[in-house]
Amino acid sequence: MTAQPPLRINPKISRLVCSSSGRVVEPHGFTRPIGLCSCCPPPGRPVVIEYDLERIELGTFDRSAGIWSYADLLPVIGPDPSFAADVGGSPTIELPRLSRELGITVLVKNEGGNPSGSFKDRGLAVGVALGRACGAERFCLPTQGNAGVAASLFSARLGLPGCLVYMPEGYQDGLYHREARFFGAEVRFAGANIAAAGRQMRADVADELASGAYVDMSTFFEPGRLEGKKTMGLEIAEDLGPEGLPDWILYPTGGGTGLVGIWKALSELAALGRLDPAVRPLPRMVAVQSAACAPVVEAFDAGLEQVEPVESRGTVADGLDVPGAIMGHGILRTIRESRGAAVAVAEAEILEAFAECGRHGIAASFEAAAVVAALHRLRGEGVIADSERALLLLTAGHLIPLGKRAVPGWE
Ligand SMILES: [Zn+2]
Repeated sequence: MTAQPPLRINPKISRLVCSSSGRVVEPHGFTRPIGLCSCCPPPGRPVVIEYDLERIELGTFDRSAGIWSYADLLPVIGPDPSFAADVGGSPTIELPRLSRELGITVLVKNEGGNPSGSFKDRGLAVGVALGRACGAERFCLPTQGNAGVAASLFSARLGLPGCLVYMPEGYQDGLYHREARFFGAEVRFAGANIAAAGRQMRADVADELASGAYVDMSTFFEPGRLEGKKTMGLEIAEDLGPEGLPDWILYPTGGGTGLVGIWKALSELAALGRLDPAVRPLPRMVAVQSAACAPVVEAFDAGLEQVEPVESRGTVADGLDVPGAIMGHGILRTIRESRGAAVAVAEAEILEAFAECGRHGIAASFEAAAVVAALHRLRGEGVIADSERALLLLTAGHLIPLGKRAVPGWE
């Protein structure tokens, strides 16, 4: 094991709560990893970390520490800069051409510059650090994309045994498999999709998960990934300032960690007095999905409180191929609290927007292209009004889709 300064639990954590029932979750002194709650029916619901905001005085952020520049609002502190100082810090920039074309202000935050190439690095860096601080020896997760790569990278950075990654059958020798292996992962294949891969994983390593030696890093199965994703919201608020917040934030929504995380960040900053919704309302959060797999959009349109699983018809955007959402209640709550929207775009619209991104010099993945497509839709329908400001979260760059396979339709 490489020498690393000790990771410590942030003493300003006030409590852990169940995202569904609101009941307090016992942290057991953080001597073992925190998983799902035990108050809801098995397997439980996501646990959310709350901070004693009265005790937090935010100074000016020094971005040189990457996402740990926001250590006061993260659950675990003390990592060496070599662990994650290169994570986050993506600038928020305006796209003047698209702004002129649409008669609004279009801002983008592109996450492609993170070490493993996507926004997943934020959540997995914090999730891995938190699990390690709680005594875990190894991390495991099912993945059909960048999350497994990111978890492998941060396991490698801590000198831990290779991350145990389960991928659906058919992912052998694909880009994600090769990337995860590059970062030392042990990759196993099971089932037709990520849900089946996850079931196999939980059966295979049930003992290690039960003892706390391993942490299940599946989306929302532990609270660290949400806290890491939160840093996107902290950066947006810092970059644009309380007066300059966008009216809308459009976010490609699979598991929804980033959507919920950005809203959690903005809410915490409002509670800390850094933002004042009475002066400028917080941004309206838009969940963007593929029409081929749109459980959140369907649940939102139906006025449901929970997201019911759907049958995915398959989408080019791997990150949107998520037919259910264990944090569906939190995603729907975020959209409604923020007076936001949920938009499903057709596969053809995603491919068209992907080509448009190329023409504009925007390094965008398919998930990011879906957000560009949704922007056109919302603007065309007049939902986004003249002169409003819309921020697009571009979760990864173009190299991932282009490195994976020829793009259907135009290549
Ligand atoms: Zn619960």
